[in-house]
Amino acid sequence: MACARHLEQNGIYPDIFEKRHRVGERFPNMEAIMHLMHRPIKDSLVYLNNLLDVDLKPAAVVHTVEMHSPNHKAVITGKNLGYSTIRGHDDRSWECQLANTVKAHINFNCAPNYSELEKEYDWVVVATGDSSISRDLGVWTTDLEPFLRGCIIKGDFDPGKIRLWFNQSLSKQGYVYFAPYDSNEASICTAAAPSSPDDIDDLWAKTIDHFGITPEPGSEFKVEEYKIGRVSTRQIRNILLTGNAGGFIEPMMGFGQVPALLSGFYAAQAIVTGADYNQLTNWFNKRYESSLILRKYMHGLDDKAFDRIVLALNNRLSQSIINNSHIIQLAILARMAALRT
Ligand SMILES: Cc1cc2nc3c(=O)[nH]c(=O)nc-3n(C[C@H](O)[C@H](O)[C@H](O)COP(=O)(O)OP(=O)(O)OC[C@H]3O[C@@H](n4cnc5c(N)ncnc54)[C@H](O)[C@@H]3O)c2cc1C
Repeated sequence: MACARHLEQNGIYPDIFEKRHRVGERFPNMEAIMHLMHRPIKDSLVYLNNLLDVDLKPAAVVHTVEMHSPNHKAVITGKNLGYSTIRGHDDRSWECQLANTVKAHINFNCAPNYSELEKEYDWVVVATGDSSISRDLGVWTTDLEPFLRGCIIKGDFDPGKIRLWFNQSLSKQGYVYFAPYDSNEASICTAAAPSSPDDIDDLWAKTIDHFGITPEPGSEFKVEEYKIGRVSTRQIRNILLTGNAGGFIEPMMGFGQVPALLSGFYAAQAIVTGADYNQLTNWFNKRYESSLILRKYMHGLDDKAFDRIVLALNNRLSQSIINNSHIIQLAILARMAALRT
């Protein structure tokens, strides 16, 4: 959608193929973009809105992130720590908001073979949200394969407050996150690296029990082997790989929305200007490496280590560093993590 939007801004009207019957049919869930994850960009939403000349609206401005370890809690507050974003078929979702800005016709229920398209079109932009085409093209390396299970719950919530739990018994080598849609609906999700596919069901059952939640009927989802990885090149002949298909997910927390939208924009820019797509997206490689180091560091942590980290985050110095968006960069954190391992 980001790619189509920028192409259209330059007078190019693409054909869009979507395998599902409507935009955002994946499953409804809440996601987040946190400024800390996207530095040096100060505010990714403002940045993207300017870049694509759109007015994407978040569900809420995040003013509080509550982080829990088994025995401690840190509360990080700030005027604007990031945004919560709705995903899925909801009219407020980012995919639906973006689709409203695109004039090109979307061919639904249509998943054509990329090698056929490659012959028929000048350019093929792959934005399938998975690595299957990149693997088929032989350019993909998987680094992580988390499993995710989540649902929607009803309650009385503060839309600007996101909560995270680092607790091995609920989310092995991962985390549980909670983000409200609005004041009476929220999404909760366990992201973990289980030792077997059944293990994620076990962890999810423990999450439900631990929080005493009742999933809204029909809202539970499960994602198996969500592949996070790298590509050796993002352009193969006239095929450009964007979003998850181009390895644009930060491995540390699994954040991929901002890089996906940026990669779509750069794919369009490469098509419009003839610039090299690999070069335009090179900035992400360094970020990916740093984020992967941090992810691997996190994999080695046990509950006691998370207790120590969460305790440390609760002091005033940590809070002001986190709030000072230009100080921390992933690369610096990665170097610190590498020294500790
Ligand atoms: C449960 C979960 C929670 C997440 N939380 C966060 C978060 O908090 N913050 C964050 O930044 N990121 C998060 N992410 C990652 C983020 O959602 C993705 O990185 C991002 O949406 C990738 O965008 P994309 O455009 O590559 O793919 P998608 O947004 O998945 O879009 C791909 C589209 O292609 C369609 N499609 C698939 N195959 C074909 C085909 N063969 N032909 C035609 N159409 C096809 C799909 O139906 C879909 O509409 C999360 C991911 C999951 C699964």
